Amino acid sequence: MEIRTAFCPRCGAPSGGDGLCDRCRVAGTRWLECAPRAIHISCPTCGAIRHGQVWTDSEKEREEIAPALALSAVRLHPEVRRPTFQVTVRELSGNRSIAEVEVSGHLFGEQVRDRCTLELVWQKEQCTRCNRIAGSYHEGVVQVRATGRRLTGRELREAEQIANEIESTHQAEGDRLSFISDLRVTRDGLDIVVGSQAIGLGIAQAIAARLGGRYSTHPKLVGEKAGRPIYRVTYLVRLFPYLRGDVVRVQDTDLEVVSVEGHHLRAVDLQTGRTRTVRENEEKRLIGHSSEAIDALVAYIDGDVIGLLDPETGQTLVVSRPGWLNVRAGDQVRALRDGDRLVVLG
Ligand SMILES: [Zn+2]
Ligand SMILES: [Zn+2]
Repeated sequence: MEIRTAFCPRCGAPSGGDGLCDRCRVAGTRWLECAPRAIHISCPTCGAIRHGQVWTDSEKEREEIAPALALSAVRLHPEVRRPTFQVTVRELSGNRSIAEVEVSGHLFGEQVRDRCTLELVWQKEQCTRCNRIAGSYHEGVVQVRATGRRLTGRELREAEQIANEIESTHQAEGDRLSFISDLRVTRDGLDIVVGSQAIGLGIAQAIAARLGGRYSTHPKLVGEKAGRPIYRVTYLVRLFPYLRGDVVRVQDTDLEVVSVEGHHLRAVDLQTGRTRTVRENEEKRLIGHSSEAIDALVAYIDGDVIGLLDPETGQTLVVSRPGWLNVRAGDQVRALRDGDRLVVLG
């Protein structure tokens, strides 16, 4: 029996095959390659990062990004097994760092280790969103108005909060151009300037649904781009004239509004405690909102009437006793002032 031993043609060592031994194969292979530089592009205003043409929001600091950026420039031979990397970064200037990448692993069964050095370039470029905001670019305005009255402070706060929530949702979904570029309280209500029609519509719908109202859209042709018409849209949100908690007088009854449903109100009769519907065309007068109620002392109870001590004048006012009201002399009740009357809320 003949034992065939192959020898490496380069170093003469046994090779176990026809060609070079493992060590000479490794020596003849460029298994680690490093690009001379890796470029990172971020927005100086908001910190977003650009990959190709796509901007992504990022909260990461340079120290966190640098190792991955350096490794993005490293190419390994596909036969390298179990590679491990060690990256050391040295700052050169505001827009330059030097990264040293040390790689070890296994190639053709031999342990390998090598290192390379590259430059990290930190470029600044304004992102599409910040660019649009800076240029006052917008695609629409959401105008929030109340019908026949001013917006209350609570409505203003809630409308603003809803708008911000909708913006966060769009941003979180990667729709970066759906931003709010301005939000201002005017004499008439609230104006929300938006970067896209998608967010404009979303805000208008949400405010109308949650605060009670209707919205309408009013597009206006403002120009043309690449043969396509450019519209700017006004989303007009009209909040209903009455609010939940409003106390209104209809004919000779005092009612507290419990819900607003388009053309009519659901309201509690403050005398009987019963709920009824008030149609849009019924004449009504606003007394105030339940949140403005004052505390009044029950001075006495006498059959169907109670004597209430007016905290402002110190005089006792006689009001008819609501059937549902369970009080004793000395108790406090909440009441709304209506001229020289006090309307008992409970
Ligand atoms: Zn060899
Ligand atoms: Zn930006």
